[in-house]
Amino acid sequence: MKYRGRFAPSPTGPLHFGSLVAAVASWLDARAVGGEWLVRIEDADTPRTMEGAADDILRTLEAFGLHWDGEVVWQSRRTALYEDAAARLRTLGATYRCKCSRREISDSGLLGPEGVIYPGTCRRLGLGAEVATERFDVSGTHVVFHDRVQGAIEQHLERHVGDFVVKRRDGLHAYQLAVVVDDSDQAITDVVRGADLLWSTPRQVALQRRLGYPTPRYLHVPVVINERGEKLSKQTRAPAVRPEDAIETLRRALAFLRQPATQGGSAAGILAQAAAAWDPAVIVGAAPA
Ligand code: GLU
Repeated sequence: MKYRGRFAPSPTGPLHFGSLVAAVASWLDARAVGGEWLVRIEDADTPRTMEGAADDILRTLEAFGLHWDGEVVWQSRRTALYEDAAARLRTLGATYRCKCSRREISDSGLLGPEGVIYPGTCRRLGLGAEVATERFDVSGTHVVFHDRVQGAIEQHLERHVGDFVVKRRDGLHAYQLAVVVDDSDQAITDVVRGADLLWSTPRQVALQRRLGYPTPRYLHVPVVINERGEKLSKQTRAPAVRPEDAIETLRRALAFLRQPATQGGSAAGILAQAAAAWDPAVIVGAAPA
């Protein structure tokens, strides 16, 4: 099958160095094998979307020579697809409605590695459509998958995550559902992204299995942290990468990914050399940024 990768930024702010590293890794992994690389704007979470951020991200990718194939896909225009999948899960009896408040869950749930573990309170109540929140029932679900950098990843979803939300109280489809629908609909063969999403992957694999979708290959690159040891993000005020520093920033991204140094004075030239030399096997224990 022809390689198809993607970069799927959430337009909650401009591109920072951490998201650039993910974009570069995913672009190189695709281009190294002559594959396609798509861009999807993950703006399904409309309350978190920042005006102008998506255009800014797209302009920045272009300025860095990270050109994509085909049309950019916008999650906010694909609600019908997510609702079809939610309806299928409902028909399969794989989801149920939940009326618990955040407060009730945090009072009664155990804290797991991914936040509070939902204790399944509403699982057998058979609540109707007047309740908006829908959860995926993970009873007995055990997921093992191979990550190309992180190795074998295994999770007992019931013990470590609990039944997770696929449709939110505000009626929006949750990231976990939208991403699985999109990766399948866009025939993505390879997901390359930051390791902050490593432990979301078992939930995504569980959804893929239930919906009958194929599971792509996964490669999670280490997360870039700042001098205080925090992940670069909007919350930690990571600065935007600047197109005028593209060459220097690309070199830093390649060094972070432990790829060989490149020569040449253009972003496109650096990326072409880096794609020819791309070796994800050396990424483990990435270099400090
Ligand atoms: N939208 C997510 C983010 O910006 C990435 C999702 C993904 O790559 O699956 O962190």
